[in-house]
Amino acid sequence: MLPILDLKRSFNAIKPEVFSAIERIFDRQSFILGQEVSTFETHCDKYLELPEGSCTGCASGTDALLLALMSIDIKPGDEVITTPFTFFATSGTIARLGAVPVFADVDPVTYNINLDDALSKITSKTRAFLPVHLFGQMTALDEDVINAFHDKGIKIIEDAAQAFGACRTSPDKRIMRAGTVGDVGCYSFFPTKNLGGCGDGGMVVTRDKERSERLKKLRVHGSGTTYFHDEIGINSRLDALQAAILDIKLKHLESWNNERRKIADYYKLLFKTNDLTEFITAPAELENNYHIYHQYVIRVKSRRDDLMNYLNERGFAVRVYYPLSLHLQPCFKYLNYHEGDFPESEKLSREVLALPVFPGLKASEQEELITNIADFFRV
Ligand SMILES: *Cc1c(COP(=O)(O)O)cnc(C)c1O
Repeated sequence: MLPILDLKRSFNAIKPEVFSAIERIFDRQSFILGQEVSTFETHCDKYLELPEGSCTGCASGTDALLLALMSIDIKPGDEVITTPFTFFATSGTIARLGAVPVFADVDPVTYNINLDDALSKITSKTRAFLPVHLFGQMTALDEDVINAFHDKGIKIIEDAAQAFGACRTSPDKRIMRAGTVGDVGCYSFFPTKNLGGCGDGGMVVTRDKERSERLKKLRVHGSGTTYFHDEIGINSRLDALQAAILDIKLKHLESWNNERRKIADYYKLLFKTNDLTEFITAPAELENNYHIYHQYVIRVKSRRDDLMNYLNERGFAVRVYYPLSLHLQPCFKYLNYHEGDFPESEKLSREVLALPVFPGLKASEQEELITNIADFFRV
């Protein structure tokens, strides 16, 4: 079976280093926050080219979103504009605070939120804009877009859970890293993410020093000094084991992301050489974008489910991210959205198919998969 993701292949190279870090922490018996977490946070500040102290480790990507929303004082009834085509947590956390997820449709080429549609959803109740850098490609948050929101007092929170290391070049040639261009950025270190731990973990980042200090309190029940609480926070700490392992993996991230990009290029070539471009569309990488292919997601023009079953039966794990647009989820019935409200998002959920992409995937495995896809369309 060719899995959608095989973490064992990249782990073997770092195994001795990881095991000695684990031993060090067990010998010391100190597991929550502490030296490993501060070191990892500092290394992330450097990697993301942010001022020291910008990064705050927390317990998950979901908590990073929750903490980010809390740090800009999102209250019940506030509206947050976001995408319906993403993992549930993006709007789950908005709703969890009693705020209202307001959806805008997606762009059919990048699968990211359509910025014109997002701007058209602004009302007097809009407090935040929450775009997702889906599958590893950044939403085009250029200065004019950011200003259009900021001019109305609307904060921008980036869901960069799938995009640690992704970046793009702005029209004036500045490097913009996913998670660092808005007011607050959120990352997930769930094991399957490009930078993944050995359990849950996440990080919330901001250039605003005051907000960053507040985030460091919010993750420990709103307490700056133990047992004294300035505000009501949550328990969302990164633990030493995760931080130590993530710190080791961070050193390899650039080369792992480059390997994903090479795999993506080869898929694209194979579609051409196998005459598949009339049946499927390869994911588009926009100009000036450094897509890190957290997922390699194609569009299948028809018979997507038949193709998925055909491949699964032949030992190729291909998956659908995401099969149901968030505006149609049972839990969001109260928001009163209906089928047809976001046609591009709905169409994506019928057409997308994720193919395996991970460091260590072999060219021969890609070739075999594509041969099988060609066989499916030719019978
Ligand atoms: C994974 C993910 C999250 C949530 O991260 P967890 O660490 O699993 O809580 C949020 N948003 C997106 C887009 C994700 O892919």
